[in-house]
Amino acid sequence: MGFIETAGNLVELLLGNEKTKIINVIVAYRNQRLRAFLFPRWTRLPINYVKHFQDKDKTIKPGSSEMAGLIVTVDKEVFEFSEAQNVREALDYVSSSEEDLEFVYAYLNKQGIKNGEESFNQEFPLLKEKVDELWKKGIKNGFVRAECLKGIETKSYEDGLLEVQYNGRRKSIVSFSRVEKRKKGEEKCPYCSYEKGREDYPWNNYIISANPYPYYDHHIVLVNKKHIDQFIDKNEIRVMVEFVLNAPEYMVVYNGPPGTTILSHMHFQAGIHSLPAERAKTKTLATAGNLTVAKLLNFPTRAFVVEKDI
Ligand SMILES: [Zn+2]
Repeated sequence: MGFIETAGNLVELLLGNEKTKIINVIVAYRNQRLRAFLFPRWTRLPINYVKHFQDKDKTIKPGSSEMAGLIVTVDKEVFEFSEAQNVREALDYVSSSEEDLEFVYAYLNKQGIKNGEESFNQEFPLLKEKVDELWKKGIKNGFVRAECLKGIETKSYEDGLLEVQYNGRRKSIVSFSRVEKRKKGEEKCPYCSYEKGREDYPWNNYIISANPYPYYDHHIVLVNKKHIDQFIDKNEIRVMVEFVLNAPEYMVVYNGPPGTTILSHMHFQAGIHSLPAERAKTKTLATAGNLTVAKLLNFPTRAFVVEKDI
């Protein structure tokens, strides 16, 4: 028992309930403290954006970053509409309600959590260097479209607990490549097809490479060696944990179906960025030794935070 077991049990509980089964996970390791944020959702699209624009494409699409307080949009109108109140309302709407999470609170109350010895594979001291290198090479040879990270406009609300980021350049690049792909009739899995200039680094059961359209600094992607559907369980949480333990500074994210664009191929994203949820206040729900399960307090989304000093 310990961090992995606790986070894994919570994920299993959430996946088994209609009102909580869409899950985003973020794992970060800062100042010797390992944290997993589990964001349960019941739906994808924020109704206030859909009502306002009457267009399903004109909305924020909550993934891990959004659930953690960082809104990324490539649409100027969506950016302008994304004032604090509208963003808060949108995130509150898609997030599972306190009422829908009561079964988890009851479970934690009744079962508590158990801490114990657990070992992590920390035998990849060069992982961070390797990953940094993939990123730098990608920028240098043009595989990473570095312009995605330039000319970004941002707005910040509620002492930085909500950040809204607009990047018009990213849009033009992404849609251009999509149009190109459609023209060629390519509907192949992008992770299974070779992209010119991409460098791969195998690690665990994953292949790591730079993200060609970044929105984080050092934005990389970890793609499973097998073409299998997006899923999350204890073993995959372990992969996330061992990644950040071996490459501190990075945080790693998982976007659960149906909240990601490539659902048919299991992958994580990682980057160097501190997300607003990491700075939010928390309330402890259960504790055992240095293992804690807490929830976010006064944050637009609901989340469980599993924490342990390593
Ligand atoms: Zn694939």
